[in-house]
Amino acid sequence: MKKSVAIIGAGTMGTGITQVFLQAGFKALLLDIDPGILKKAEKRIADIYSLLVEKEKISLKDRDSYLINLNTSTSLEILKDIPLVIETAKEDLKIKKKLLKKIEDIVPYNTIITSNTSSFSINELASGLKKPGRFIGLHFFNPPPLLPLVEVIMGEKTLKEVKDKITGLLKSIDREPVEVKDSPGFIVNRLLLPYINRAVDLLSEAAASRDDIDKAMRLGANHPMGPLELADHIGLDICLDIMENLYRDLDDTGYKPSDLLKKMVSSGKLGKKTGEGFYKYK
Ligand code: NAD
Repeated sequence: MKKSVAIIGAGTMGTGITQVFLQAGFKALLLDIDPGILKKAEKRIADIYSLLVEKEKISLKDRDSYLINLNTSTSLEILKDIPLVIETAKEDLKIKKKLLKKIEDIVPYNTIITSNTSSFSINELASGLKKPGRFIGLHFFNPPPLLPLVEVIMGEKTLKEVKDKITGLLKSIDREPVEVKDSPGFIVNRLLLPYINRAVDLLSEAAASRDDIDKAMRLGANHPMGPLELADHIGLDICLDIMENLYRDLDDTGYKPSDLLKKMVSSGKLGKKTGEGFYKYK
């Protein structure tokens, strides 16, 4: 596989995944429909590298070589010669399906097309494609440069050679792939979100205080963060979205989102990103 990749969607995940590939020596093409977002993403990446130079984590030469390898565009036409595409656009089924079809019509026949979706079925996303065999789910974690795990999700029609190429590539760039069948929440979200949701239920029942719930899981289960701190870090809106998807797809009341979680999201308390969730942030 040639060392170049296109990342479509320059939000939180697209920007972080781009950094991972730049640091692994790839040429990265970052696309978005919004030129303003692309500018911001470019600046964010350049600022992070300048900070890493200041902290002596990378050299000036490294920073310059990463930035030379970064190109941005609002036009999909630029994908004509790209061997690997990672779709990281907004989590909206219609947008993703339409975008994937357009990508398929432009890229060469042997390009691998992937999606970083957190909640949609890979089979559903592949259903509009002419060649679903080359499509596979690649679920990175936030922030991608710091969290090495990538869930690799095979659709029913994904070719084994595509999965083998992708897992080989991920290992070569110091990522840690795990394989999972196309199933709601994949591995991490299926296990993690119900746990967070139960912690919110405990809090709303006043069974224990916020601080004691977090302390209990830090000290009793050796978790680096308690569940309520973790929910604030992920974003309470994202937690609620994932719980709603799990509840719908698994049709099991055990996955019903907590009323307190819903209340906090509707009052705009989304966690760190809005300055308040279960905790307050400056
Ligand atoms: P985001 O909202 O920060 O960014 C999405 C970007 O997609 C925006 O910049 C938007 O302009 C762009 N976009 C929308 N339509 C587009 C189109 N047609 N073509 C090109 N760009 C388009 O979202 P995010 O948090 O970076 O999430 C992106 C994907 O990654 C989602 O599928 C999400 O479920 C998944 N994901 C998110 C996280 C997380 O913690 N944020 C973790 C793992 C996976």
